[in-house]
Amino acid sequence: MIDIKAIAERDRSSVLHPFTQLKKYATGNSGDPTIVTGGQGIRIQDAEGRSYIDAFAGLYCVNIGYGRTEVAEAIARQAYKLAYYHTYAAHTTEELARLSDRLVRMAPGKPSKVFFGLSGSDANETQAKLVWYYNNLRGQPKKKKIISRDRGYHGCSVVSGSMTGMSFYHDHMDLPFPGIVHTGAPHHYWGAEPGETEEAFSRRRAAELEELILREEPDTVGAFIAEPVLGTGGITPPPTDYWREIQAVLRRYDVLLIADEVICGFGRTGADFGSTLYEIEPDLVTVAKGLTSGYVPLSAAIVGEKVYAVMEEAADRVGAFSHGYTYSGHPIAAAAANAVLDIVERERLSDRARTVGSHFQNRLKERFAQLEIVGEVRGVGLLGAIEFVADRQTKRRFDPKLKVGARISKAARDRGLIARAMPHGDILGFAPPLVVSEAEIDEIVELAHGATKQVLDELS
Ligand code: PLP
Repeated sequence: MIDIKAIAERDRSSVLHPFTQLKKYATGNSGDPTIVTGGQGIRIQDAEGRSYIDAFAGLYCVNIGYGRTEVAEAIARQAYKLAYYHTYAAHTTEELARLSDRLVRMAPGKPSKVFFGLSGSDANETQAKLVWYYNNLRGQPKKKKIISRDRGYHGCSVVSGSMTGMSFYHDHMDLPFPGIVHTGAPHHYWGAEPGETEEAFSRRRAAELEELILREEPDTVGAFIAEPVLGTGGITPPPTDYWREIQAVLRRYDVLLIADEVICGFGRTGADFGSTLYEIEPDLVTVAKGLTSGYVPLSAAIVGEKVYAVMEEAADRVGAFSHGYTYSGHPIAAAAANAVLDIVERERLSDRARTVGSHFQNRLKERFAQLEIVGEVRGVGLLGAIEFVADRQTKRRFDPKLKVGARISKAARDRGLIARAMPHGDILGFAPPLVVSEAEIDEIVELAHGATKQVLDELS
């Protein structure tokens, strides 16, 4: 038996938790931590013996579900054989070469080489350096600014945190870093003028992007970074024509496109990559989360042919590529990723996310779209969100003090369902493991519906 109180005390007195109100936690005013002890399939267990359906796959990452022993065995095999060696100065391992080769074969755009990191944040940090490096090497030293979108999420480190387009990630942290600029979110529900179609809204967002590039001066703008489907900013699929319009502008001004596939990659949207689904042709691609289903930390910045050709061509002149981490291409992480991708391919999880995902989208709409506090139900594949508003006609938001989204999420949790209260409004988000069944989807939707009804009753 584990000593729950002792673990809670030890944790409270020593762990600096992300996204946690520090004082309330340290003083015990926000209750004890949830001590997670196990997981199987789409469920996790805590130390008090409670079981939860994890309809957010951890943080949109455990795509193959919990407890897949095949991955544990691959990790153990590699650990017994060789737990670590670095990849500097052309050292490699069999697992790493296999993983890299398969990523080059499967990634969107025209992939050429893969740089490995440990998190989505550091991979996007690498992308920024690649943009700067590429433009220095090809004699465009001013072409360095990176445009990202309001409500985009790209991580929490210095540059990736600056790319993230939500001010509470910047406040009191001296972000954004100079040279990162933001353009409008692809959020039709909130951003469109009355009566504006999705197509017209997409054209307007593209025109705004063009104006921004012209205002900043095109020879100072190096790249645009975006998630194919806006994730943490509200789980928002792009409006019709959005990606076609945006890419036309980027091409016109020779601006690189970084597709942040950290959530969308490896099947989540019902296609292998969000870029495949929306016909995006990126120059650089960021992957993490689903790459190992979160079993071990691993990310990658996948470099397209256009950028890599300039890097290789300049090598005699500039010397070695001076960027890398102790753990870049860690052999245990590579072995885990290969085992995970074997499962993703064998179980055709992209196809599954499309078929089970379509059931999920239908069920969400059937059960929620008519509720009086639901402004929008949206999603694609196995990504979904419900946006709650005080008035559907005027789209008036709830008073933030009511914490409607957080209360619904809490009520769901009390019923044994983890669905995430997203920042930026009252939004309940879903991203279940891709192995979820249709029956489990029904269970998730019913639990969420019960939780919503409960809060609706409390409000009236
Ligand atoms: N990019 C996207 C689209 C993400 O959703 C996230 C994390 O949620 C990141 C980057 C950052 O990844 P990490 O938390 O591994 O640094």
